[in-house]
Amino acid sequence: MIARHFNEMTASLQRTLTEQQTLQQTLESRVDALVQAGTTELFHLNHLGVFIQACERLSEAADVIPQVAPALFPFGGSVLLLTPSGNALEPFAHWGAAGTGSAWLPDECWASRLGTTHAAAPGLHLPRCTHDSTSQATLCLPLGAQSEMLGIVTLQFSDAPALQAAQELAQRFADRLSLSLANVRLQETLRQQSVRDPLTGLYNRRYFEEIGMQELLRARRHQQPLSVVMLDVDHFKLFNDQYGHGVGDLVLRRLAHHLGHLFQDEIVCRYGGEEFIILLPKCDAQAASERAENLRAAVQGMTILTPHSSRLSVTVSIGVTESQPHEMDLASVVRRADQALYRAKHLGRNQVVSSVTAAS
Ligand code: GH3
Ligand code: MG
Ligand code: MG
Repeated sequence: MIARHFNEMTASLQRTLTEQQTLQQTLESRVDALVQAGTTELFHLNHLGVFIQACERLSEAADVIPQVAPALFPFGGSVLLLTPSGNALEPFAHWGAAGTGSAWLPDECWASRLGTTHAAAPGLHLPRCTHDSTSQATLCLPLGAQSEMLGIVTLQFSDAPALQAAQELAQRFADRLSLSLANVRLQETLRQQSVRDPLTGLYNRRYFEEIGMQELLRARRHQQPLSVVMLDVDHFKLFNDQYGHGVGDLVLRRLAHHLGHLFQDEIVCRYGGEEFIILLPKCDAQAASERAENLRAAVQGMTILTPHSSRLSVTVSIGVTESQPHEMDLASVVRRADQALYRAKHLGRNQVVSSVTAAS
């Protein structure tokens, strides 16, 4: 009797022990799976940050996002950035089921209006953003840094439970994106400020020297011509003397605007004072001289209206040169353009002189 009782007790203990072992194994494998999933997510989140951080321009970051984000949100998503004026959210990057989409007004998104995450999915009984034309599970998260809104990220899921399960990860994703995009944007702004002339918005001399050397090497490598056009405003000092420095500045800005418009595909720089320089890759001196002559005539035809309603006309003298096939010194190319310009001044101003024709 006692023996039977003892046997039953042993069997029961054995069963409990086996059940506990099975439970423990199940729990351990669940924890393993969670750790594994968490590690994989961390790995991809980390990747996203590292690669975006290494981008020099926002356009590069826009290429990185659709390559990394699907590992975290395979169903699809899109990132929109607020325009500098802050009145529209423009498509920046997208992947998966999310299409390119169009720009929306910040008011069309609940996440943007409320400044917090917003979910919409069948069965959730929450209003859908006007920009969201799907009937799917969509999560919108604001992107921002230091209380400034940067944009919105929208993520798509198969259904409401999948969306709810991924909310925490989505928040970490948005935080990581915000930080890295704000960083790239700051770098881009600083870079722009360091290569742009504040008065005219054109590239400055520092940038010209950097890009000019690169273009010279490229021209040499591909055995293509590279021309340099240098121009100087005629009797510019008179504008300052007669109308004041403000009007002088206005003349420079108008001229710069015109130059940027006429040479949209070239590199236009303010070389200093009232001198401008244009780099024309894949263009020989003859073609560059024709472009320069068109420019000279266009400037002569310009009328600049001063704040006091005076109508001013302006002329420019222009020097043109072309790089030699094996030339490696940008300074000597610039020197030739400058000499041609000097000759144009000497010959009576308001004209184009090419170092190629001047030498022959
Ligand atoms: P030239 O036909 O020989 O080139 O005569 P110029 O009067 O244009 O040449 P000059 O070199 O004697 O004078 C250039 C003037 O440009 C002198 C300088 O005060 C003025 N200047 C340089 N930078 C600026 C600027 O940013 N704003 C204004 N308003 N004037 C500037
Ligand atoms: Mg000058
Ligand atoms: Mg001048």
